[in-house]
Amino acid sequence: MENLSAKRFKRTFVDTFSGDDSGDLHPRQTPGVLYSKAVPTAVRKPELVAWSDELADSLDIAKPNPDDIQILGGNLITPTMYPYAACYAGHQFGNWAGQLGDGRAITLGEWENTHGNIWELQLKGAGPTAYSRRADGRAVLRSSVREYLMSEAMHYLGIPTTRALALVTTGDMVTRDMFYDGRAADEPGAIVMRTAPSFLRFGNFEMLAARNEIDNLTQLVNWTIERFYPHIEGDDKIFRWFGEVVERTATMIVEWLRVGFVHGVMNTDNMSVLGLTIDYGPYSFLDNYDPDFTPNTTDLPGKRYAFGKQANIAYWNLSRLANALVPLISDTSKLESQLRRYEDFYWSKYYAMMANKLGMDGINNEDDVRLLAEFENVLATVQPDMTMFYQLLIDLPSELNSQQDMLNFFKSSLYGDPEPTDITKLYSLMTSYQARLKVNTCTREDSLLRMRKANPRFILRNYLLHMAIEELQRGENHLFLKLQQALKDPYSKSHDEFFGMRPDWATQQAGCSMLSCSS
Ligand code: AMP
Ligand code: MG
Repeated sequence: MENLSAKRFKRTFVDTFSGDDSGDLHPRQTPGVLYSKAVPTAVRKPELVAWSDELADSLDIAKPNPDDIQILGGNLITPTMYPYAACYAGHQFGNWAGQLGDGRAITLGEWENTHGNIWELQLKGAGPTAYSRRADGRAVLRSSVREYLMSEAMHYLGIPTTRALALVTTGDMVTRDMFYDGRAADEPGAIVMRTAPSFLRFGNFEMLAARNEIDNLTQLVNWTIERFYPHIEGDDKIFRWFGEVVERTATMIVEWLRVGFVHGVMNTDNMSVLGLTIDYGPYSFLDNYDPDFTPNTTDLPGKRYAFGKQANIAYWNLSRLANALVPLISDTSKLESQLRRYEDFYWSKYYAMMANKLGMDGINNEDDVRLLAEFENVLATVQPDMTMFYQLLIDLPSELNSQQDMLNFFKSSLYGDPEPTDITKLYSLMTSYQARLKVNTCTREDSLLRMRKANPRFILRNYLLHMAIEELQRGENHLFLKLQQALKDPYSKSHDEFFGMRPDWATQQAGCSMLSCSS
């Protein structure tokens, strides 16, 4: 175990690539470099709000001492750190946005643990960088709590994600226009220290391709493969690597769909090249099962990033990454064929995942595929609470005597009274489903086990986060600590005080259903 302040950090990224070492924090274009030095701007009084013990243990990071807390606030940089912001570009809402970069994320260094695993340590909200454009480089407590808790929640759900080590308040206020309506207000500032083997995004590669910096692009691709995909070697390594990015991305999306996660801002600058869930902003879990739901107010016009569109958007984003790799490849048809593998790979993962959710031994034939489509259809029509519905499904009796029986059984997952025709549809679906379960080749125990592992019982709903944030802003951390505990055990019944649908009051409340990007 070592303290943050005593650690000798590694700095392979900055030592490998060309960067702007001037430390100039004025917003600007930075052609020719992959990063710009950015020393965090000091804050008034960093105070520790949260620390992830298990993550710290796995990285061999000792509990924070007063110097470490100064590091977490951006007030102390040790000699082996090299703070920098990465330069990347991206497609936002389908449009090329040019250079973006880490506008409020600063990597301090690379932490190597005793097993030789290396993780980047990054502060989010530590002040301006060369990529802050017109913004302040800061983050508010509200959005920092959301990133901290949700990235940890996703980890414990078993979903690939960046993680959060610590959360500090800064003692400074930050001005935000949360509703984009000119009513700006001061909110407490905060900083999250987040970690990942790498925060490289599709957009890092897009940036170099757009600038025609082919040497830099080649170097970045080779480095990424060597370091994060070391099993890939040989002449065809670039498309084999791209093929693995395709697979990891598809896997991540299927996992999101399993638990009802909507990212909300799937721009290519928010797509990790390691297939991690990254950049937690206006995300949400589904409460009522609405595939058309987007939690992001900015996304409302086109609902581009709605729950049910995420698989297609991921494909589109992968095609942007493929485009960025074209300058490195003479035979682009091979790149296209890797991209086209997405569909088959995605569907096989999706079917396996849905089979587990439903306790089936597989999606084995046309009838099973039809049953799945019927589930999708009926759920989207009736819109029960997704999490509650699947939990009830685990306990579905082998016979339901009447439609009324069934309705009573599912009552605690329904937000309103379904139309009689929809009740009939749900009843007929349940009848087909019960019949299908009877021909499972696996045992009933095995079927139940699959369901219990695939269906979370605790999800970090937006209204819970909202309540925890309001409490923290009043100086209490009771609910925050409870949620921090509950998210570690999402498949068990041990936190059933949170087992329930979104309450009525939260339906229209800002921050409980819809969110803005203002963070
Ligand atoms: P996001 O939608 O959070 O992924 O952010 C998109 C871009 O805006 C990224 O380049 C961010 O670094 C930048 N950005 C977002 N918020 C801020 C902020 N408060 N200060 C500086 N840059 C920001
Ligand atoms: Mg981002």
